[in-house]
Order: sequence, then C-alpha cells, then structure tokens
Amino acid sequence: MNSQITNQINQAGHLTIGGMDSLELAKEYGTPLVVYDVSQIRHQIRAFKKVFEEEQVNYAVSYASKAFASIAMYQVANEEGAYTDVVSAGELYTAMKANFPIERVSFHGNNKSKEELEMAVKNHVGKIMIDNFYEIDLLSQVLEEQDSEINVMLRITPGISAHTHEYDQTGQVDSKFGFDLDSGQADKALQEVLKNQRMHMLGIHAHIGSQIFELNGFEMAAAKLVDVAASWRKNYDYTAQIINVGGGFGIKYVQEDHPLKPEEFVKVIVKTIKDEATKHNFPIPEIDIEPGRSIVGPAGYNLYKVGSMKEIPGLVPYVAVDGGMGDNIRPALYQAKYETVLANDPQRKASQEFHVAGKYCESGDILADAKLPSLKAGDILAMLDTGAYGYSMASNYNRNPRPAVVFAENGKAQVVVKRESLEDLIHLDQDYNI
Ligand SMILES: *Cc1c(COP(=O)(O)O)cnc(C)c1O
Repeated sequence: MNSQITNQINQAGHLTIGGMDSLELAKEYGTPLVVYDVSQIRHQIRAFKKVFEEEQVNYAVSYASKAFASIAMYQVANEEGAYTDVVSAGELYTAMKANFPIERVSFHGNNKSKEELEMAVKNHVGKIMIDNFYEIDLLSQVLEEQDSEINVMLRITPGISAHTHEYDQTGQVDSKFGFDLDSGQADKALQEVLKNQRMHMLGIHAHIGSQIFELNGFEMAAAKLVDVAASWRKNYDYTAQIINVGGGFGIKYVQEDHPLKPEEFVKVIVKTIKDEATKHNFPIPEIDIEPGRSIVGPAGYNLYKVGSMKEIPGLVPYVAVDGGMGDNIRPALYQAKYETVLANDPQRKASQEFHVAGKYCESGDILADAKLPSLKAGDILAMLDTGAYGYSMASNYNRNPRPAVVFAENGKAQVVVKRESLEDLIHLDQDYNI
C-alpha cells in the first residue's frame, strides 16, 4: 500500500483526509472533488519557517499562489504568517478579497500589463518583481501618473538549470524570465531602477525551476545572487537588503520520487548565503523563498467516481472516471505521474494494471496508470498529491463544470470553492443578434 496514507485509514477501512472519510466527502459534495487537508498546508509552511527562525535571519516564506489560489487559501497562508506571490490581476484581486495584508504581496510576471501595474501601485503591493526593461518604463509611467512610489526587486536569470523536466526550467540563460547577467542587462536594469526616485530597490530575485530534488541548484543560485549583490555594492554603491532564491522545492508524487524536507532546503540556502556574504564581507541580507507546489501539492486529493470500463484482449484495460484533464491537465500536458488508490479500501491488494482515463474528448486524457484492485462502477478513486497546479489550471473544456474544492481539517470539512453549475457555464455567453 502507498506509504504516505498509512495513517489515513479509518475503522471502516476508508481513506481519510483531514480526519474526514473520503467516501462521505464524495457523497456529500459530489465528484469530481478536490479536497485539501489543511493541516498539511499549515505543516509545510511551518516547516519552511522553522529553520529561518532557528538561524535568526530575516526572512519571508512567500506562498507562490499560482499553485492554488482561492480566498480560503490566502486566508490560511495569512494565518500561518506567510507572504504571497501573485502573477496576475486576478490573483491580486483574490488575495485582496481575502484581506491578505497587501504589504506581504509580491507581484511577479514577465508581461504585466499597464492595468495590472496600475492596480498594484494603487493598492500599494509590497513588492513588484521587475522582469524586463519594458516593465521598468511602464512602471515608471504608472508611478508618475499616480504620483506614487513602490518597492521593487529585480529578477535575474542566474544561468543555472536545475535537473528537472524541461518545461519547468526557468533559470537557464535562454529563458523568457528576468534579466540576463553575462550580457550586462542586469547591471543596466539596476542603474535604471536606482535612477528612479519612485522605485525603492530592495534586492535581487531568481527562480531556477520547479520540482527540484537536488540541493546544489539552490546552492549555486544562492551563491550567484550574493556574488551579484557584492558586485553591485562595489560597482554601484548599492547594497541589496533582500536575496530571494525563488521556489521549486520538489515533492513526492510517486514512489520513485525522493524529495528533501523543506528544512533541508532552507538549511542549505541559509548556510550558503551566510557563508558567501561573510566571504564578500557583505551584510547578511533578508532571505526570501517562494514555495508553491511544496505548500499545497502534498495536501491535495482528487476524488473521482468510476464509470465505464473497457477491456481489450491482451492489453491494459481502461477505467474511466468522471473528471480528467479539465480538473488536472498535468498528466496530459507533461506526463506528470500520480499515485491512485481505491478510496473505500486503500489496503486491498492491487491486482491489476489500469489506465485511469478521464471523460474528456482527447485520447491523451489519461490521468494515471495505476495498479488497483478489481473495480466496479460507482467506486471512488483518490489521486494523491494533486494540490498543486491541478485546480489552478482547471478548464471548462467540453463545457464540463469545474469541481468543487473542499478544505478538511480536524474532522471538519467546508466547501471553499463551489462546484460550477450548468448556469455558471453560460453566464458570460450572449445571444448573437446582428
Ligand atoms: C512558479 C514560481 C514559484 C513556485 O514554484 P513551485 O515549483 O510551485 O515551488 C516561485 N517563484 C516564481 C517566480 C515562480 O514563477
């Protein structure tokens, strides 16, 4: 049986999530259903914070909310004292509706629109992470127009690629994100920002990738950022107060994944920055990180109901569920792997290989290949660790409504995002009558 859930079996033998029986959740709220174990979210945020506290450095654990954004999620992140990253007006708006403290919000993105920058400046977001020269000009214009000021950081591409899936790499030189170092772009950006009295330059940022299992990518990135900060001090008499090494901390999706603990990542990042700073005789900066996947991924479960099955002589049978690429596109998009269990009896011996297929009209809509006991229509399957980039990438493909999202904690559960209705699906449609 899957070792992650050994403590999550109740007396009936059913999978529990946040102390709730998963079959009861499926019955009460319907399927497909996204369920988060909130205590797991809290646990991850606390684990990231712990080492910073022990090391007595200034820090921020900024939840990268693109992994899963909803009002309730921002509220939990706020309760745990996290900061948050947003990448669009929509995420910013949601965070504001959750009363997330605006000074703890960082606004990221490689093509922020003027309207987005106006909204960020008007509401005084904590930091704007400047990505490119066009943005410096646009932001400068917005600040003039609003006669305002704002904190900024510069995102650079440190030229480091962590060993991970190709699509997930954002730190290498050939990237759409950030200022290049070697060509002098980053230095030029710094000079432009320092010249601008309305921009308060707080520090330097890099994000090297996602689902990273090794420490050395973070060591190299952290060392590089201190290096850059030291050279900026020498060449431009500018001392960075914050070094932000981004997110990308890997989690366990399948048995072959062996992620490090949040504490292990933070320990190495803090040590590298302290060591490098000491070497350069540079004041220890505030150290910020931006975990997304690792905060919400392990806490999430997708519950599906089994429907049709297809057996083909000599081949692996298909079992179709009532969700699919509309609620989790990651398997179709980049062959992401997940563990799947039979919710009413995760301990029953898995006897057979299945393709767990979605209901969407795409041959590639296969959620997982899983070894499962024999199945019948109406059984509930639970996919594990679906909390990151699942619901947040959900679509209405085939005009299927998006699932509800439920938060469960200490044996209580609550809908935090309602299931879309058929009426919701057409509420933006207009008659054509020219
Ligand atoms: C996506 C992103 C993150 C979070 O990445 P995870 O892999 O979810 O931890 C952090 N920082 C930036 C700038 C990002 O774009």
